[in-house]
Amino acid sequence: MSAPPTPDVANDRSTLPPGRVLGDRLCTSCGYNLIGQTIQREPHYDLFIIRCPECGAVAATQEYPLVGRWAFRLGMLCAALWIMIMVALWAGTTGAFVGLGIATGEIASQSLQNTLWTAYTAWQEQQTPGSSYNPTSFQAWWSEQDVDAMVAASGGWRGVFDLEAFIMLIPLSLVPLGFGVLWGIALFRQRRTGLLVWGAIVMAVSTAISCLSYLDWIAPTSPWTAARSVAGPPSQFAAMAYMTLSLWTGLLLGRPIARGLVRLFLPPRLRGPLAILWTTDGRTPPGMICPRGWPRDPLGPTPVSGGDAPSK
Ligand SMILES: [Zn+2]
Repeated sequence: MSAPPTPDVANDRSTLPPGRVLGDRLCTSCGYNLIGQTIQREPHYDLFIIRCPECGAVAATQEYPLVGRWAFRLGMLCAALWIMIMVALWAGTTGAFVGLGIATGEIASQSLQNTLWTAYTAWQEQQTPGSSYNPTSFQAWWSEQDVDAMVAASGGWRGVFDLEAFIMLIPLSLVPLGFGVLWGIALFRQRRTGLLVWGAIVMAVSTAISCLSYLDWIAPTSPWTAARSVAGPPSQFAAMAYMTLSLWTGLLLGRPIARGLVRLFLPPRLRGPLAILWTTDGRTPPGMICPRGWPRDPLGPTPVSGGDAPSK
């Protein structure tokens, strides 16, 4: 009467597709990174194991703490140290950007300062011959000036800015580029979008801080502050935008450079712990053995083999 018994495929664990190692796991025998390796069922004791494709050593899937309490404390110390280094790197990056931004604004204002100084001293000589510069008379003169007319008289904005400032920025863009490379390597968990967002955050904070220098220029009392109040902000923002492009380039170049250095300087068996430089970008670490037909991405979905796998 009853239907012939059908094997309960879905609940029979021996027919389930094998799992794979999804995190960094180093072979205890040779140090090879077992990420992406198939987890097998060992027939004798019916335990899950991973077999090292390099040396054949067998590893259990459970991880037992191999180190004592002091090693754990040392690990905590290293983590705290890492956070402090990252904060210092952030402060250093911000400091470099603020410094370069303000310096660009100042150097770009120099020729306008000379123009203003000449015009102001001529005016003052007319008002009270023989007197020298004083802030009150400068403020009186400056309040009568039409900035747009002055810019037009200097031959437009191109005549206002000292091009020297922007020429100086070309070699100096190596500084944000270098910081970008460091960040690209340090933020090893972030993909490209995350890296670009981080670059934008760094630049936003730096730009906000560099705007504090404008406080000095709100009510100009000298040709120097007056020149910077006109030529400073646009040149400062232009410098920040240019350095952002440089930082972004560095952020995207960081990991490829690190991967090249690892390939160049480390023999394959020592590359295991650095596999994250590849896996974060969805790449297969060099020398990793990928079973045929499996996706290149070691952290991708586990392929289902053959027709004996459950369909649901
Ligand atoms: Zn091994």
